[in-house]
Amino acid sequence: MTAREDGAAAGSGPNADTPVRFVRGIGPQRAAALAAAGLATAGDLLFHLPSRYDDWRSEQPAAAVRSEGPWTVRGELRDLRVVRTRRRGLALVRAVACDASGGVPAIWFNQPYLANRVVPGTVYRLHGAARPSEGGRWELVNPSLRPVGEGEPPRGLVPVYPPLKGIGPATFARVLPTLLPLLDRAGELPEPLPPSLLARRGLPPLPDALRSLHRPPDGADPLRLLARESPPRARLAYGELLELQLELALLRRRGAEEPKPHRYRIDDAVRAAARAALPFRLTGAQKQVLREIVDDLTRPWAMLRLLQGDVGSGKTIVAALALVVAVESGLQGAFMAPTELLAEQHFGNLSRLLGGRYRLALLSSSRRDPAARAALASGEVQIAVGTHALLQERVDFRNLALAVIDEQHRFGVEQRLALQRKGTRPDLLVMTATPIPRSLALTAYGDLEISCLDELPPGRTPVETEVLPASERRRVYRRLRDELAHGGQAYLVFPLIEGSESVSAEAVEALGREAREYLAPLPSAVLHGRLAAEERERVMREFATGRVRVLVATTVIEVGVDVPEATWMVIESAERFGLAQLHQLRGRVGRGRGRSRCVALHGRLTEAGRRRLAIFAASQDGFRLAEADLELRGPGDVLGLRQSGLPSFRFAHPLLDQAWLERARADAAELLSRWQEPELAPLRARIEPRVTTRIGRLAGG
Ligand code: ADP
Ligand code: MG
Repeated sequence: MTAREDGAAAGSGPNADTPVRFVRGIGPQRAAALAAAGLATAGDLLFHLPSRYDDWRSEQPAAAVRSEGPWTVRGELRDLRVVRTRRRGLALVRAVACDASGGVPAIWFNQPYLANRVVPGTVYRLHGAARPSEGGRWELVNPSLRPVGEGEPPRGLVPVYPPLKGIGPATFARVLPTLLPLLDRAGELPEPLPPSLLARRGLPPLPDALRSLHRPPDGADPLRLLARESPPRARLAYGELLELQLELALLRRRGAEEPKPHRYRIDDAVRAAARAALPFRLTGAQKQVLREIVDDLTRPWAMLRLLQGDVGSGKTIVAALALVVAVESGLQGAFMAPTELLAEQHFGNLSRLLGGRYRLALLSSSRRDPAARAALASGEVQIAVGTHALLQERVDFRNLALAVIDEQHRFGVEQRLALQRKGTRPDLLVMTATPIPRSLALTAYGDLEISCLDELPPGRTPVETEVLPASERRRVYRRLRDELAHGGQAYLVFPLIEGSESVSAEAVEALGREAREYLAPLPSAVLHGRLAAEERERVMREFATGRVRVLVATTVIEVGVDVPEATWMVIESAERFGLAQLHQLRGRVGRGRGRSRCVALHGRLTEAGRRRLAIFAASQDGFRLAEADLELRGPGDVLGLRQSGLPSFRFAHPLLDQAWLERARADAAELLSRWQEPELAPLRARIEPRVTTRIGRLAGG
């Protein structure tokens, strides 16, 4: 037994780093559940904050309950009964709380044990919100319940803790007050931020912030306490944002203190070479972005730039021209894409644009090409196009200077850094079609630059979007057949079936068969991730050249695929896709001059599904859709950001706390300018090890 466990057992109360299983009221089972939620110590538990406060400070007569409330009522519980609903397993408890003014019904969901606990004839205090019920009456829903006279009657604001898997609110309510003394013991949960900074931002020190959230002062307004701007809440969110900004800045500082070793040559000959590669006139936005990139290339420090542009805005050509600058300067470039299909397409396009002058190679996991790798290592191959296969250990560049990552949200931070490590501080251009709000981008990268293609190439018309029930499928196919009789091409997309790629490949073949038979006069083909590389390339080539008119596919075509003649998109089981995915899929059409149409067929819809599809039909603006997606799903899930290595916050919200994020960025810069000052020692002790861990992870992976 360690001294710590000994101390806890001796009843001297836990320390901040006492494991939760030694905290009174938490057994091994609950401790395991807490650990799974990242709460390992008594100190961690103090960061599990109330999600609301019950205000027991005033009581109202039962008859007064005529709006949402919340209400506090004192009365006897009558007509108590348990009702089993037809939906299996769901039990309702109903009762009426009666006082001198009359009665108010109350209902509890899924708390059948209440029926045994309530003692008839006892007076209770009930607290909770109300909702309308039959006959114009209101009923209390899941009110908290306390017998009057038993123990200490609850007074004031009582925190209500969000349950965790396996741990109900009552446990937290019981345990947390026993931990509050920790906040008063110096050194247990020290404030890492310097007092001068807190004063400047008007924020309370950490222990004070936690104390006022767990035990609000008398007279506090519960809604104010919960607001994001309330100083205690803001202290926690700001702390999180500031620490991340510091970590990212330090990480970058360690990597980028030195200037890059390569130099670009930018003169008339290079400009002529770039012009020669151009199949069309650049849009104003493309020219502007290219200027921003070339400016970065000529600087002594490596570029880190995010190029955002909605689907079809023409990001590829911008990257291609930047690669021309690199190659004309005697340097190498890399172009990485998330799927083999997309890498193959980029290789095809770039070869067509640049293949006459330069040597390109395609590297992917289904193509082991030792000759290409050798030519890359010798510098003979100037541009390597590929999937994450580019990151393999055996892949070596002679002088990689410019790395481009397409659809970067499909890659993790570590993969991005792994590509950078293929050269010596290469310039990095990451591209994404799904716009990340600036604040999210900043949280993911720290100080990257952002360029935006906010203009589509000329001649595009919006894609007409329809959302229809699957029962309309036949009619949709008939229209498709009629319209394609006059030309054009179509995608029929089936969602990836959960589970294995082979299951979905089979499903697509089966589901697609009916459609293909129906559309029979039109030549069609099936495309999914299980096809061999050559077969996949053959199918895509035939679709690109127009020999295949209808492509029946899984979501392998979701990102990047570019066949401008395609004008029809039918998305099956559209309710299974997220907004971002739907928008990406729709982005496969409307790329040429023809009018395009997207039909989303859906099965049974949930309310959320209905809303999502309505938003999809109403807007084509990727940025607007991203914001709507954020509102519907919360930041972690949006646009695959979780995959992109975006840290998940406990308290901060990258969109709602934008003002604090900007302050955190400014403050991080200020702190780093005086990083070695004694005042900052606690903060250094917290941040530096994390930066080292991140660097270690990179070196290891
Ligand atoms: P995304 O930004 O989605 O990656 P792409 O780079 O695939 O878009 O470009 C979409 C289509 O628009 C391609 O067919 C491309 O050739 C075409 N395109 C790009 N820029 C222009 C332009 N300035 N004028 C005309 N067509 C363009
Ligand atoms: Mg693209």
